Amino acid sequence: MPRVYLETFGCQMNELDSQLVSSQLRTLGYTFTPESDQADVVLYNTCSVREHAEQKVWSRLGELALRKARQPALVVGVLGCMAEREGEALIKRMPVVDVLIGPAELDKLPGLLDNALRTRASLLSDETVQELAATPEDEKPDVSRLRSARQVALHGAGSHGTTNRRSSTLAAAADSLELLDLSRATSPDDHQGSAYVRITRGCNKFCTYCVVPFTRGAEVHRPPGHIIDECKRLADAGVIEVTLLGQTVNHYRFEHDHAVTIDGLIQPQKGRAYTHKQGVHHDPYKLAKGEDVTSFADLLFQIHEQVPAIKRLRFVTSFPRSFGDDILQVIRDCPRICRYLHVPAQSGSDTMLKAMNRGYTVAEYLEFIDRARQFLHQPEIDRPLTLAGDIIVGFPGETDADHQATADLLRRVRYKNCFIFKYSPRPGTIAEKNLVDDVPDEVKRRRNNDLLNLQTVISDEVSRSFVGQTLEVIVQGLSRREQKAARRAETAGACSTGASGTSLTIHGKPASASEHETTVPTDVPSADSAASRHAPVQLQGRTEGDLIVLFEPPVGVDPRDLLGRIVRTRIESASALSLFGTPV
Ligand code: SF4
Repeated sequence: MPRVYLETFGCQMNELDSQLVSSQLRTLGYTFTPESDQADVVLYNTCSVREHAEQKVWSRLGELALRKARQPALVVGVLGCMAEREGEALIKRMPVVDVLIGPAELDKLPGLLDNALRTRASLLSDETVQELAATPEDEKPDVSRLRSARQVALHGAGSHGTTNRRSSTLAAAADSLELLDLSRATSPDDHQGSAYVRITRGCNKFCTYCVVPFTRGAEVHRPPGHIIDECKRLADAGVIEVTLLGQTVNHYRFEHDHAVTIDGLIQPQKGRAYTHKQGVHHDPYKLAKGEDVTSFADLLFQIHEQVPAIKRLRFVTSFPRSFGDDILQVIRDCPRICRYLHVPAQSGSDTMLKAMNRGYTVAEYLEFIDRARQFLHQPEIDRPLTLAGDIIVGFPGETDADHQATADLLRRVRYKNCFIFKYSPRPGTIAEKNLVDDVPDEVKRRRNNDLLNLQTVISDEVSRSFVGQTLEVIVQGLSRREQKAARRAETAGACSTGASGTSLTIHGKPASASEHETTVPTDVPSADSAASRHAPVQLQGRTEGDLIVLFEPPVGVDPRDLLGRIVRTRIESASALSLFGTPV
């Protein structure tokens, strides 16, 4: 079977898509390689949210165009948001691409890939391949003559934001993408104790800078029964931490009998009174009389009660508006739900928030933060609430006063970490069409650095507040220090043997490459091999509050035995980025 190289750009949603796609292809017999050069099929799961990620993909495709002249049987696929946004224009610009699939059509990948491979094979008889291989580089024919291998599945028109959104309940109910999540393979080899579970696809918010509502379509909420069953299957496969995913995850709302939320008619969470008593809360299989909605609070509660083997339940990304008390109450009352909220503010200026169409004011955002702290912040029992945020600097019209207001917001909220990005207009978005990108790049850079420096100080203080506490840490794999050492050793080995280095693997299986910061290689050496190089292995894990903890395993403990496990760790020191501890 063909060997596949899959590289992922962007967010957790893309990482999950890549996991689901890989698992589906593996079931069909495809094997994966961590080396693009060794692959028969190269797939890029792309992101359109930031310009930088798109530029990387264009650059990779340019390199593949050269390679395809030497290896005409190579099949190249572009998946995800960039495929949907660019549409067939992407193929016109990069004829090297054979397969183009938007994020709402990923379930079609196996069929289209198979078609592309067969078509390409039939176009390339053995003689043609040999003839092309023997042709000097500068005389090779244009491989665009093989265009008929192309396979395209896009949800909409697929060109610069003209994608059609799902506009009816029926269209969403027939969402075949659900099958991709449902058919997920849950082998213990596919995770390190942690897994993502999607609960909502798409977004209805239309923030003016964002391409997601155009590329991923309108919100579709998965049936709670499917989500709970998926959590149970993951728990049976050894997963102890589940992260629920949605673009506005707290707005999950499944209307029974309607199957999906109708585009644009989402009712805000009302903060319905929550009673922590089994049977009073909604059962997704058997609703109370007169009730026909499963809210996000209901869903959290049901997963917590029905899948106790999941020791940590978390969710991203929260939308600050309409975050009901019912959700906060469930988090407070259910010990296995993490006290961690990633809740992007994007700006500390009301003028900017309005221009971004975020739908809340700074005062409303801060009211939510205070309310969340009131419900969930309990440092006296080692269960503080930790917060993460996102900020955009240099949005059109941003003044120094707006920028200072954002700095004030950072000081007030005290995120444990905050993703700070310079604004760049994304094609097809409302801001790109209607607003002038009028903040000079040097001003954006200066403001960006200002906020990064400020956030580093705050992160450092937040981290240090954990020193002396004993925290539960889920072990994910090697620390970055160990990863770098492993890479250096590989390179040295490759130089001395002349062999190409092996990439990092998960339980001996090739991992799909990803640029996401949470990806942790886990090809952990045994205690014996660590002892043989006279250096203790440093492992990395995460706390309930998503803080990174670095520690060395106790003497005599095989580090591999700790992967995907919870280790109680006493925190001895801290920096802005990490806590350092010792297992107790
Ligand atoms: S909430 Fe706004 S920023 Fe987030 S995905 Fe939806 S449109 Fe984009």
